[in-house]
Amino acid sequence: MDLHSGMPFWVVLNPLYNYYNPLKKNIETHTVIIGSGITGALVAHTLCSLGIECIVVDKRTIGTGSTAASTAQLQYEIDVPLMDLIEKVGEKQAVDAYKCCLQSITDVENVFKSIGKNPDFERVPTYLLASDRSGKKLLQKEFNARKDAGLPVEYLEQDVVKSDLGIDAKAALYNDTSAQLDCYKGATYILDHYLQKKQLQLFSHTLIEDYVETESGYELVTEHGSKITCKNVVIAAGYEAGEFLPKKVMDLLSTFAIVSHPVDKKYIWKNNALIWETKTPYLYMRTTSDNRIIVGGEDEDFNNPDKRDKSLRKKAAILEKKFKKMFPEIPFVTDMSWAGTFSATADGLPYIGMYPNKPNMYFALGYGGNGITFSMIAAQVIGNLITGKADPRAELFGFDRSKR
Ligand SMILES: Cc1cc2nc3c(=O)[nH]c(=O)nc-3n(C[C@H](O)[C@H](O)[C@H](O)COP(=O)(O)OP(=O)(O)OC[C@H]3O[C@@H](n4cnc5c(N)ncnc54)[C@H](O)[C@@H]3O)c2cc1C
Repeated sequence: MDLHSGMPFWVVLNPLYNYYNPLKKNIETHTVIIGSGITGALVAHTLCSLGIECIVVDKRTIGTGSTAASTAQLQYEIDVPLMDLIEKVGEKQAVDAYKCCLQSITDVENVFKSIGKNPDFERVPTYLLASDRSGKKLLQKEFNARKDAGLPVEYLEQDVVKSDLGIDAKAALYNDTSAQLDCYKGATYILDHYLQKKQLQLFSHTLIEDYVETESGYELVTEHGSKITCKNVVIAAGYEAGEFLPKKVMDLLSTFAIVSHPVDKKYIWKNNALIWETKTPYLYMRTTSDNRIIVGGEDEDFNNPDKRDKSLRKKAAILEKKFKKMFPEIPFVTDMSWAGTFSATADGLPYIGMYPNKPNMYFALGYGGNGITFSMIAAQVIGNLITGKADPRAELFGFDRSKR
């Protein structure tokens, strides 16, 4: 599957991770991680930290799946508002899911502290703007749900939003617990760290085409016929993980993003906040460490990469127009635009852990707009499951949750 098109900003900003190492022989290891995006990297971090022998394989250049296209905002807010998630999965599960996301932002921060590298991770606040009157009503209800759950949230009236951001919005929900990063840089930093420490083997341009279950685990077969014998497999294959799953668990969407030329710092709004809207299709924005502005949204159902790519020019123009309407005084000039594939599950939650009847095959499927925070949770849960520790999050995000 073609996961993105156009020019994802991060691939231009960072030197392409120049690593070419296809697997050309048969090998044996304890755990194989399929996928070198942010999910595979976080799983590798967790397993290497636990002293578990592991290898990462990827059919592409390292980190150049969806991770390279991500706008990489870390928020505790899941795509499904808390009040709706409570309806879908029950109050305890919904609140626990939100709290797991809140914690995982700090956990991601700590991963980079522990390896001594910063992929432009920066703590920033979030404003969720009421786009209109009905958005304001929605925010009032959502504020109450989050407040009752003990989540950090403030309700801002119109005048406060105006004075903070200079925007005419009816109201906003605010919290200062979010973060942003360069996700592509983050994934490659982690993988490179453990590669240099010789704790990890990394094979790029290696497609896992087939697998068979053995008495002691799995035998994976690459497209060129090399075999990897292992006890455990972690599927961190992103939106292409479907081929390892007996059943479809997500719907694919196309999403679009643009990045501006760097602007004078005086134009950047208060505290480099993440800004979202209640409207559908939503609009969101963030800033970068070199004072660019990224604007994203305009999601639509994914049919095929050609259709998505044909829409890119039109979608980029819409995003720029909407941004300029919100911030007419900012001299926004689009520098690059790209389209990416991402996906949504029915309840907005990720799928983490073993699929029934697939022993020792662990899925780390952080689907949705919180993909990165979900990846962090998946890495920890899978680390616990592999080392035989109970983790309540395995049930919360497991494949059996619909039977609850
Ligand atoms: C435009 C956009 C904006 C986003 N914004 C946000 C955001 O603000 N916050 C957030 O949290 N999330 C966001 N996301 C989602 C987030 O980026 C993804 O959840 C995350 O990057 C997924 O990482 P991954 O490692 O699971 O998948 P990927 O990065 O796609 O990595 C999976 C890898 O598996 C490899 N692979 C697949 N199958 C095989 C196989 N059979 N053999 C070998 N290798 C294989 C692929 O080549 C790929 O490199 C956004 C996504 C997009 C596209």
